[in-house]
Amino acid sequence: QIQRALRTLSIPLERLHVMKGHMIEDMCKGLSRQTHAQAKVRMLPTYICSTPNGTEKGNFLVVELCQSQVRTLLVTLYGDGNLSPQMMYKIYDLPEGITQGEGEALFDFIAQCVTQFLSETTSSDTDSEQCLPLGFVFPFTCRQTQLNKAELLSWSKGFNCSGVVGKDVVELLQAAIDKQAGPDKEGEASGGGGWFKSRKSSQSAAPSQSRHVEVVALMNDTVGTMMTCSMEGRACEVAMVADKGSNCCFMAEAYLVETTDETSGRMCVNTEWGCFGDDGTLNDLFTPYDQAVDEESSNPGEKRFEKMVGTLYLGEIVRHVLIALTAEKAMFTGTDAAVLKEKGVFTTQHLLEIVNNEDSITEVRRILEAVGLQPSERDCGRMQQICRAVVGRAATLHATGLAAILSYMCQTRDLESLMVNVGVEGELFAGYSRFEEILLSVSRLLAPECMATILASRDGSGRGAAMVTAVALRLAAQRHAVDEVLAPLRLSRDDLVKVQALMREEMDRGLGKETNPSASVRMLPTYVTHTPDGTEKGDFLALDLGGTNFRVLVVRITEDGITMASEIYVIPVGIMQGSGEELFDHIIDCIIDFQTKQNLVAQMLPLGFTFSFPCQQVGLDKALLLTWTKGFSASGCVGQDVVQLLRDAAKRKRHLGMQVVALVNDTVGTMMACGYDDPKCEIGLIVGTGTNACYMEEMKNVGTVEGDQGRMCINMEWGAFGDNGCLDHLFTHFDQVVDETTINPGKQRFEKLISGMYLGEIVRQILLVMTEKELLFQGKPCPKLQTKDIFKTKFLSTIELNGLALRQIRAILNELELDASFEDCVLMREVCQTVSLRAAQLCAAGLAAVVEKMRENRGVDQLSVTVGVDGTLYKLHPCFSNNLQTTLKDLAPNCNVTFMLSEDGSGKGAALVAAVADRAANAME
Ligand code: ADP
Ligand code: MG
Repeated sequence: QIQRALRTLSIPLERLHVMKGHMIEDMCKGLSRQTHAQAKVRMLPTYICSTPNGTEKGNFLVVELCQSQVRTLLVTLYGDGNLSPQMMYKIYDLPEGITQGEGEALFDFIAQCVTQFLSETTSSDTDSEQCLPLGFVFPFTCRQTQLNKAELLSWSKGFNCSGVVGKDVVELLQAAIDKQAGPDKEGEASGGGGWFKSRKSSQSAAPSQSRHVEVVALMNDTVGTMMTCSMEGRACEVAMVADKGSNCCFMAEAYLVETTDETSGRMCVNTEWGCFGDDGTLNDLFTPYDQAVDEESSNPGEKRFEKMVGTLYLGEIVRHVLIALTAEKAMFTGTDAAVLKEKGVFTTQHLLEIVNNEDSITEVRRILEAVGLQPSERDCGRMQQICRAVVGRAATLHATGLAAILSYMCQTRDLESLMVNVGVEGELFAGYSRFEEILLSVSRLLAPECMATILASRDGSGRGAAMVTAVALRLAAQRHAVDEVLAPLRLSRDDLVKVQALMREEMDRGLGKETNPSASVRMLPTYVTHTPDGTEKGDFLALDLGGTNFRVLVVRITEDGITMASEIYVIPVGIMQGSGEELFDHIIDCIIDFQTKQNLVAQMLPLGFTFSFPCQQVGLDKALLLTWTKGFSASGCVGQDVVQLLRDAAKRKRHLGMQVVALVNDTVGTMMACGYDDPKCEIGLIVGTGTNACYMEEMKNVGTVEGDQGRMCINMEWGAFGDNGCLDHLFTHFDQVVDETTINPGKQRFEKLISGMYLGEIVRQILLVMTEKELLFQGKPCPKLQTKDIFKTKFLSTIELNGLALRQIRAILNELELDASFEDCVLMREVCQTVSLRAAQLCAAGLAAVVEKMRENRGVDQLSVTVGVDGTLYKLHPCFSNNLQTTLKDLAPNCNVTFMLSEDGSGKGAALVAAVADRAANAME
């Protein structure tokens, strides 16, 4: 019989694996918005979003409501890693009957304790005018909606004060404390730090009330355990209380906590795992002894996990095992064992003394006799085995729950392995000598991918509460400072409406013959008058010069679609910077080589030339080079017609296989390439290294070209928007610095707010300022970050990817030789988001001006139009296109704009320009 009893109390490993799985399922249930209400493991958000980092300093008050006492505590932190905080305690007994009386009386009493404690502890050396932050440890089930807002759901543990359930207990305590402060203190200003000043001023409308004590945080005791263990300079992200009850909390990815709006970073979740199994998942582990304990408890059917592991119940489980064995005549035969009917006859202390003294049968005998039993030698041995089984099982179940949490953390953080510190506190942990060993070995078996280090917490609820309060204040102060830095980069809707209006103004000026020279947006005519209609046909050559590579292409347009072949050619630096003749001769050589390889020498093919340098176009096939850029400086070209230069070279080389019909800007190529697939595509947009746009304008509005009929594509050159000072009000300190370090200061100002060449630099400047203000990297200087262009725009894409792919972010940080904490990563992400959002919004404001103008031009209430887009920033950044489209919808609600990604605008697009010109020419004939 004894063997059978022991067997039911021991749980095989496979069964523990199953239980771990159930625990993870229940945790997910508790976190999900849909299933949260029914979940047994409640997974309550605590609004604690960070663990201590050691820089916390100042005085912090804690008040803790306990079973029969109020504990007050004053903790002084020195910002020295929080190694040896100074602490002062005082304990006050709760008056008789107060736990059943009026709520107001209870809170008044707590407030009195605080006041009295303060008057005794804070002497002349503490500035009595200073506002003291207070952390409130309130160990009842609350619905918390902020760190300092928690509505009591129900009393427990013998408390039942009237008028509190459903109320915000922080507010009740604050009111009671304010009442204590008395009317004579009213109106006194507090001398707190920046955070308090800002809090105060924002509350100045409320009746002025000097708050010597401000309740900053409310928390449950488990959370406190986690926070104290973080003190030794390493983050502790899990805490377990193995005491009368049992509970666990951990830092979860905030976006998984669907019951809160927090999506960034992490939040401590109070699992309330004591209720695990209340829906039956533990039924097959529940022994008849557990059943009996449960039935005799004040809340049968509830807190089933807790009843198997909490020290409030372990003695009872042992008692029921003994009752069963005595009834089966396996123990205490022939003696009076009636005492076993007495509830609570064995305490956890008894059990611990037995299990900790492995060999001491005399100890067992002493205890059994003390409670009134007459044990035989055999009874003592069996008692020892039973106690070991019950206490060992409690430790094993704790370990299984812990394994579930560790595995869950590892999975949701997208890690292959997890190293984590676990703070533990409670009677079972402190009193059972094998607890830690079992915890580690079992959790290791069940979650081999996780490495836990156990840290013993001392007085979690007291010191921990002070830490929570301190961290809350640090975060509030940091938030304030971060907002201050980022505020100038955050644009309001009004700002954007204004940018849209300014862009519109500049467009009109650029189109006007007289006003054109003074416009920052040059609105260059392209002599492209039609977009493709799908009837284009034939073989075309295309050249792409001025992008990342020099390419020659052949583009075959048939009824069935477009096929292309291309080759990349190198332009040696000597030729880039030699004479114009050499350059264009080289280009012709490449074309001849290409046509030979492609077997195209026998034909005369029309050629479209994508030439990505600033040109003054005077015809479709006539464009004067305004200036070289991107490392080119071939002599004798500036001011010349580049089409003619190419034709001259062909003549010199006696190459008759091509005829240059069009010079094409890359925005136009993008529009044309998309236009072939979608006739509504009448706008081209590029957001890559730089940014630019083109669109189809009415000829009658183009003052710089003769003629009023039809439309012409206008190359806006919008990157220069603002070069006349009209956007000066938007430029931040960071933009100024970035601009000053470019090769063209004061130029391309709009582009410098938007495009890939600059976003990384803007972010870098912000990070430098934030480091200097000690908001990042704990103020440690990072020399690598001083290097220009070290923070690449593609980093923004990685960092902003949803869910914080931490591994990749780590790689970036390593490249930058940055030692970033998790919080640093979260803040860096916010910086990136702010910068890329602004870029997308500004781009949208520009586009809004374009589509609205087109709508007006056509005199329609609703315009449907497609934008052909190219550029790596637009294509690869995870949020840019979404932000752009959302903002555009808002700014131009009467335009229905579709975005279409372009493929090879400068190849395919150039050929299509040639094809459309060809088609138009044929139509004329
Ligand atoms: P170009 O504009 O010169 O034709 P791209 O359209 O390819 O070339 O744009 C290149 C720019 O895109 C780079 O300067 C870089 O700033 C940016 N970029 C590159 N990769 C990414 C990425 N993953 N996310 C966002 N931007 C990127
Ligand atoms: Mg490009």
